[in-house]
Amino acid sequence: MLDLKSLIKHSLNSKLYYEKFKGVSDFKKLPFLEHDEILQRPLDLLTDKQNVASKIYFSSGTTGKPKTFFFSIEDIENISDLCKRFSILEGVNSSDRVLVVLPMALWPVGELTKLGHIKTGATVIPVDLSSSALKNVNSIINIIKPTIISSTPSVLMEYIKKYDAPHVRIIETTGEKLTGGMRNKIESAFGGVVYDAYGLSEAVIGVECEVHDGYHYWGDYVILEVIDPNTNEEIEEGEVGEIVVTCLKRKLMPIIRYKTGDLGRITKQRCICGLNTPRVFIEERKEFSIQLSAGVSITHSQIRKVFDNIFGETPNSVEILISHKEGIDKLYFKITCETLNDDKYVIQALQNISIDFLDLIRLNLIEIEVSLAKSMKEDIHGSAIKFIDLRT
Ligand SMILES: [Zn+2]
Repeated sequence: MLDLKSLIKHSLNSKLYYEKFKGVSDFKKLPFLEHDEILQRPLDLLTDKQNVASKIYFSSGTTGKPKTFFFSIEDIENISDLCKRFSILEGVNSSDRVLVVLPMALWPVGELTKLGHIKTGATVIPVDLSSSALKNVNSIINIIKPTIISSTPSVLMEYIKKYDAPHVRIIETTGEKLTGGMRNKIESAFGGVVYDAYGLSEAVIGVECEVHDGYHYWGDYVILEVIDPNTNEEIEEGEVGEIVVTCLKRKLMPIIRYKTGDLGRITKQRCICGLNTPRVFIEERKEFSIQLSAGVSITHSQIRKVFDNIFGETPNSVEILISHKEGIDKLYFKITCETLNDDKYVIQALQNISIDFLDLIRLNLIEIEVSLAKSMKEDIHGSAIKFIDLRT
């Protein structure tokens, strides 16, 4: 186990942290770790280049190139202990059968979630989201009759239409934004209570309790700070700002003061459930937004809102490819949906993602193209809405 002081001392074995931290001893004065540093210099973050990682994973790459993450056996062991704590708070026990439907190969969350449940003594059935087993998931469900299902909200929303098995007790969601509407639909289709977990590839952070009022997190695993994203100054408890995370359990590739880009707030007030740990509330995930011209950004939730308001449902999948040519951002929406068939109507609706977005279209700084398809692509990875940034 690492305390903060020994983690910082240990991090100096890495080239990048040595450059950043040398001569600074106060935690609050350590320079922040930025997204691009992890993306471009993953090897320089390693504290031991000889001791090769036991596992290498990649971020889901929701907004562009994936980041590379290295874990030692000890790191995996420690972080899956936190996932076990999540499972226990959700109410998972050794008599449960847990079906985990997540990407198992490249994304760390699937593996860590699986190990966390195993550590509770429950029986765990991992089904990789990209494997052929996914096609047979209904027969797997009927054989093992899971009491718990763990997956992403969008995958569960997709299964709602096909799910034909006894109700489960608990549905664990992770990996993307869970809206209130999604939570209601998932709970009524699967018959259990949804517990949402919050984490990033950089750090597993927190989970809901039975009160479902924010994510509980634990100071022996993570330190969260909230800063003003423009000035980088720490802000008052309860105010919304950018979440900065330090993971106390990653030794091979430490994550210290990482600017997540996620907007949220924290509270240290005791929860109604009786737990006294702090809680974090997330307003917007950076992973689910993308920057366009003139400082305008668009988010998954804005896109979801357009579809919900105008068409009454979110499509099965929306892939947005963003390219840039001669001063114009081109947004190509690849939409898979059973009910939509008029692409001109969809383009018109999408122009209203936001007022700023509409302004950019009127100024000819953005062009939208849409393609509509009926069939579901098989390699769903985490999120039903996905930005693919092709700009260089
Ligand atoms: Zn609570």
